[in-house]
Amino acid sequence: MRCVHCGLCLAVCPTYLETGDENHSPRGRIYLMRQLQSGRAELGATTVQPVDACLGCLACQPACPANVNYADLLDHTRHHIERHHRRPAAEVLLRRWLIEFVFPHPWRMRLGLAGARLARTLRLQKVLPEFMRKMVAMVPTEMIRQNIPPRSPATVPETRGRVGFLTGCVQSVMFGGTNNQCVALLNRAGYEVVTPAGQTCCGALYAHLGDLEEARACARRNIAVFEALNLDYVLTGGSGCGFALKEYGHLLRDDPAWAQRAAAFSSRVRELVELLPPRPSGNGLSQAIVTYHESCHLAHAQGIRREPRAILRAVCGERFVELPESDLCCGSAGSYNLTQPEMADRLQRRKTANILRTGATIVVTTNPGCLLQIRAGLAAAGRPDIAVMHLADFLATVPGAPTA
Ligand code: SF4
Ligand code: SF4
Repeated sequence: MRCVHCGLCLAVCPTYLETGDENHSPRGRIYLMRQLQSGRAELGATTVQPVDACLGCLACQPACPANVNYADLLDHTRHHIERHHRRPAAEVLLRRWLIEFVFPHPWRMRLGLAGARLARTLRLQKVLPEFMRKMVAMVPTEMIRQNIPPRSPATVPETRGRVGFLTGCVQSVMFGGTNNQCVALLNRAGYEVVTPAGQTCCGALYAHLGDLEEARACARRNIAVFEALNLDYVLTGGSGCGFALKEYGHLLRDDPAWAQRAAAFSSRVRELVELLPPRPSGNGLSQAIVTYHESCHLAHAQGIRREPRAILRAVCGERFVELPESDLCCGSAGSYNLTQPEMADRLQRRKTANILRTGATIVVTTNPGCLLQIRAGLAAAGRPDIAVMHLADFLATVPGAPTA
């Protein structure tokens, strides 16, 4: 009801920019949600499609002068759709049995990745359905194993606090080396890092697919595991997961047994760039030309834009170049590139063209989904030589930066 139909959100919405279709704009989607809620529109393929096609990138939320909480509207609409709309069997198979059954569980992910690598070695891609071909193509050729002890002490005399580390499901399996670097950076910045057993998926994958009950179950489990550890902060290596953790207070606000505990947990969550100490700018330690892609859940959802740029400018000096449309979604959006491949491909091509315009040799970002999507886009454009790196991995390649 807060939406005044001003349309200021349209100019930042990736699906509207690509289609020019009001149904694929935030304003159109909010109107549709109200129609569904009031019973003036019925659930069906044509009303569900614009909601499915929303990236959940939240670019529309900070652009809205009326403070419409679009994330909340989207989560509840998707929850309603999953409870009351019958999807075709192929969609159920993809959403419930592949994404929800495999991705949030590291050992199932490992099995899936082994199968994907085998399919690639045996060149079986052509016989696979399209979404599986995309998945196989995106599997990194090299994966470093996560190697994080339960307790990892600060490695400098001046200590700053105790951090609980959530390893993430996709992140821990496909980007174990990035998790190792996050912990090493925190230790060098003066933080003791605790990585408890018993933690689980942040719940974002479930929430994106409309399964709020499972997202809440993940939140309760993580809160119970981390709150017993006497932590100053809680941190994870991917911005999508980081935002999900910051939202636990909101997700469990109506649960009397958990609301307070969830709010206390969320108040401790930080991003890596919020904990690394500020550095003097322009010392040009890196010789590469570097650009920066903003993860939607870091820039739009958490409003963190200045800190990563400050670090990159400090390390790269004049060799840091701004990426046009840096905060426009790359099309990854959790599992969106699997459920909505056509729009994901369009946004991937747009991101790739913008990157090529900068002349950068390294693209830095902070989210595992963006890393996979942008790498695949550059490879498809014949530029696999342009490195796409998580900020933590990039900093590890630069001697003396930023916390050594
Ligand atoms: S969501 Fe906000 S910005 Fe978009 S039309 Fe409604 S009031 Fe305007
Ligand atoms: S979340 Fe992103 S894709 Fe969805 S309506 Fe808002 S800006 Fe558009």
